[in-house]
Amino acid sequence: MSAHIPITVARGDGIGPEIMDAVLRVLEAAEAGIAPEFIDIGEKVYLAGNSSGIEQSAWDSIRRTKILLKAPITTPQGGGYKSLNVTIRKSLGLFANVRPVQAFNPYVETHYPDMDLVIIRENEEDLYAGIEHRQTHDVTQCLKLITRPGSERIIRYAFEYARNYDRKKVTCMIKDNIMKVTDGLFHDVFDEIRTEYPEIEASQQIIDIGTARVATAPERYDVIVTTNLYGDIISDVVAEVSGSVGMAGSANIGTEVSMFEAIHGSAPDIAGTNRANPSGLLNGALQMLVHIGRPAIAETIHNAWLSTLEAGIHTADIYRPGHSTHLASTDEFSDAIVERLGRVPKRLRPWSIDTSRDTRISVPGYDRQQSTKTLVGVDVFVDWVGDPMSADTIGKGIEKLATAAGGSLKLKMITNRGVKVYPEGFPETFLTDHWRCRLVASDAPDTGASYTPVDPEAIVNLLGAAVEAGIDVIKTENLYLFDGDRGFSLGQGE
Ligand code: NAD
Repeated sequence: MSAHIPITVARGDGIGPEIMDAVLRVLEAAEAGIAPEFIDIGEKVYLAGNSSGIEQSAWDSIRRTKILLKAPITTPQGGGYKSLNVTIRKSLGLFANVRPVQAFNPYVETHYPDMDLVIIRENEEDLYAGIEHRQTHDVTQCLKLITRPGSERIIRYAFEYARNYDRKKVTCMIKDNIMKVTDGLFHDVFDEIRTEYPEIEASQQIIDIGTARVATAPERYDVIVTTNLYGDIISDVVAEVSGSVGMAGSANIGTEVSMFEAIHGSAPDIAGTNRANPSGLLNGALQMLVHIGRPAIAETIHNAWLSTLEAGIHTADIYRPGHSTHLASTDEFSDAIVERLGRVPKRLRPWSIDTSRDTRISVPGYDRQQSTKTLVGVDVFVDWVGDPMSADTIGKGIEKLATAAGGSLKLKMITNRGVKVYPEGFPETFLTDHWRCRLVASDAPDTGASYTPVDPEAIVNLLGAAVEAGIDVIKTENLYLFDGDRGFSLGQGE
């Protein structure tokens, strides 16, 4: 065996230290060839006054070893403590969250004995970019950012994962029937990249029906790739229907650093009782062994773990009379795995990985293709409360403003919460104080979706005239064509 590989280990809070010790015992017995470097993160650090829950020395260790095996931590309630998981993910660019979830029928009770799928979730973008604003008395907004490089990286990662782990299908879940620009980009990128993997079946599904199907027929899925928020929700659905939160592990993969953990939390209700199931963290650690180039050892441990489940040696969370033979403590469970190193399960499907392949998945860097961008208008968002509150009143006001600003822009429409209210809105539409006024070039056609270029100075003049007229502009969004294609959505009813 080559030299021991240094990895950073956080023993965590609650049941963390118990399950981490159990996992390290198994790794050591299997001669995994790792050299743990322990760091303190979490509750102790938060309560010592560090609101991020992690100190500089811990960052230094993680950035040196590039691998973090992390037990769950407790985030103290209230007090402005930041989520350590989000901090680590974002600071270290851990772009892919990989969560394999499987049924272990009949040893772990589930309605879906054949489920065996992997959720690959984009980890940094989407609504989790955390860019939120209150804009008017009535209205708040959260910016959903979906980028081409972010989408390419996660989708390619999903296909590479499928190829490496001999999985047959990749399903992309999005909601591009509604979010045509953002989710539409993710879908387009998926359609581009799938052509590079002809041996893998690729399909897409709208996230709402996708979530329903995952909850009722998870055995239909193999690899699912999706954006951050949908992935967050769907991965919990999947873990729940598999039978126990104590079983699944997850990897957070970056181009430099990666983090491996259990999916569950620190379970303070059973902390210190030697009853926790270490399987989730063990499965995270097995993903780590594959990642650092020790797939054969991961395979040996995985099969010993399956053999332990088959022998009916179960921790309390999965113990069931009839299927279980021994109610095991955390320590007894890990000892049972150690005893079974070298054994292969008889009923559960043995785990195997093609060790001749490079099991560390890497995706190529981003090859930016520049597109030609044409400014064709502007959405001006206005905070306005009328008496009476009428779309016609603000419509006429913005038309007057466009004339006062030199007449090179004209009002095309106004929407309120995305629905067209001017011209020709419905009196039934509920109105807030947040108006999106779409202005385009005066010589653009009045109807339809064709546009003519706009001089940026026309927008500056418009905003200057708005200030003079006392109109409360809260933000603007320029409207662009990219290589002639519309880069903005139409208003509902436009
Ligand atoms: P939890 O996952 O800790 O516990 C939910 C339930 O599942 C509890 O009844 C618990 O006893 C049980 N459970 C969880 N893991 C188990 C295991 N390995 N074996 C047996 N039973 C297990 O969720 P929670 O109670 O909502 O959160 C507790 C704390 O964990 C909170 O402070 C939360 O912020 C934190 N948390 C941390 C992480 C993380 O570090 N990645 C993730 C989720 C929650």
